[in-house]
Amino acid sequence: MQENLTTDVVVIGAGLAGLTAAYDLTRRGIAVVVVEASDRIGGRVRDVMLSTGGSAELGAQWVGPEHHELRSLVHELGIDLVPVSTSGLNVFVEGGTATPFAGRIPESMATRAAILDATATLDRLAASLKTDQAALLALDAQTAQGWLRAHVSAPVEQALAYVVRTELCAEPSQVSAAALLDLYSDLASDRLLRDSETDRVAGGPERIAHALAGVLTEPVRLGQQAVFIERRPGASAGSDVVRVHVTGSADSQVTDFGGDFTVDARAAVLAVPSAAVTRIRWAPALPGWLDQGLQRRPMGAVIKAALEYPEPFWQSVGRSGSVILADGDVASIIESTPDGGRGGVLHAFVVGDAVHRVSRMPVDERHRVLVAAAVSALGAAAAAPLAIHEALWAEEPHVRGGYGPYSPPGLEELVLPVSVPGHRVFLAGSDLTTVNEGYMDGAVHSGHAAALHVVALFTP
Ligand SMILES: Cc1cc2nc3c(=O)[nH]c(=O)nc-3n(C[C@H](O)[C@H](O)[C@H](O)COP(=O)(O)OP(=O)(O)OC[C@H]3O[C@@H](n4cnc5c(N)ncnc54)[C@H](O)[C@@H]3O)c2cc1C
Repeated sequence: MQENLTTDVVVIGAGLAGLTAAYDLTRRGIAVVVVEASDRIGGRVRDVMLSTGGSAELGAQWVGPEHHELRSLVHELGIDLVPVSTSGLNVFVEGGTATPFAGRIPESMATRAAILDATATLDRLAASLKTDQAALLALDAQTAQGWLRAHVSAPVEQALAYVVRTELCAEPSQVSAAALLDLYSDLASDRLLRDSETDRVAGGPERIAHALAGVLTEPVRLGQQAVFIERRPGASAGSDVVRVHVTGSADSQVTDFGGDFTVDARAAVLAVPSAAVTRIRWAPALPGWLDQGLQRRPMGAVIKAALEYPEPFWQSVGRSGSVILADGDVASIIESTPDGGRGGVLHAFVVGDAVHRVSRMPVDERHRVLVAAAVSALGAAAAAPLAIHEALWAEEPHVRGGYGPYSPPGLEELVLPVSVPGHRVFLAGSDLTTVNEGYMDGAVHSGHAAALHVVALFTP
């Protein structure tokens, strides 16, 4: 017979958003069951142990100065942040030529002055759009690529297209011009010109997930996928319950909790990637505007690989390990040597449409592509990594992409609800928040917010 659990709240998804909600609710004495489809917790926060000691991030990595809720949670959990090292020259590779440069923008990508001019214009436009709805909708009706072609010079277009790819993991032809402007209102005065990625989590951000899970009264149910969510009448009028049907996920190696079961709860927190919301069956069905709105926010595509070396050899020749590649499949390389580790790590990123080409390569060929990019920027010393660890995020069955969803043209009018209409299901997740969307901080913010909504619902 199928097992039926009863609890106060069922949390679906054990990424940072779901675990933050479960942590908050548990600390208030509310009973929580957490189900997670994959065989590990953390979701898009994922670290790998290195043979040289320490760990490397295959998912989220950096913490910005404005990421207050993440900073505060990390502090509360007794986990340290460590500043990112920024010494040495960066490298720009174009047409096989590697050119060292200082600062954020390589001179050869487009003249710095032209870029600064363009970003100042974009900045002004982005600010005015906050109050000009008609202008915003007009921009939302066109692609970033079309808009850039019409408004900036070719070298500036190339530079800004690069930023779209590496920030949104999508092509400028796929992203709306409004999303480009939005990106600039976040980044122009920040990441593009200064370094907003100031810190990393000591020992890797997956520690945050484990620290949160460690506070829960019962372990996260791994390998268990929510497949059907239904509203059922409760014992008395107005006391409907959420019934979540859970099934052992086919791809999982974990069998801790056996086969299928249902969880009845007074409320649920749904903390899955936005692409996963519409893959769940709902009764009553999701309203069409929400289902279609979510379907129209595709996930970006990214491969993040950690190339492990015996030492950070680039430092001895005055290089930072940060590389911008203007052509080829690898878009960027960033040095990520772990604190306290003895070796050196370079992270290579493949983003946008290149991901689908590179994912289909046999592993050896893909690794040759990654290593060749490192060699083109940092020389022959990069040719023989001790190991290559990689995460192909579009291939992850329960995430299906990263860093998060992007906005194609025609989406500006979608306003995400706090809870799913017709259900006592509160939405959480960095894809479904308006505060620091796309970042760990957004996940933590949304988890806190969902927990507060549940508490308000339970408070007579
Ligand atoms: C390569 C990469 C680099 C990144 N870099 C950074 C960075 O430097 N800084 C930063 O702040 N952010 C970064 N991010 C973004 C950050 O990782 C995410 O914003 C954040 O971790 C998302 O957390 P979440 O809890 O909302 O979702 P997730 O972490 O995706 O967690 C959702 C969980 O739900 C589970 N799930 C899905 N469907 C079901 C189901 N039906 N039933 C049960 N469980 C289900 C999934 O398996 C997953 O574990 C990066 C992301 C990627 C991929």
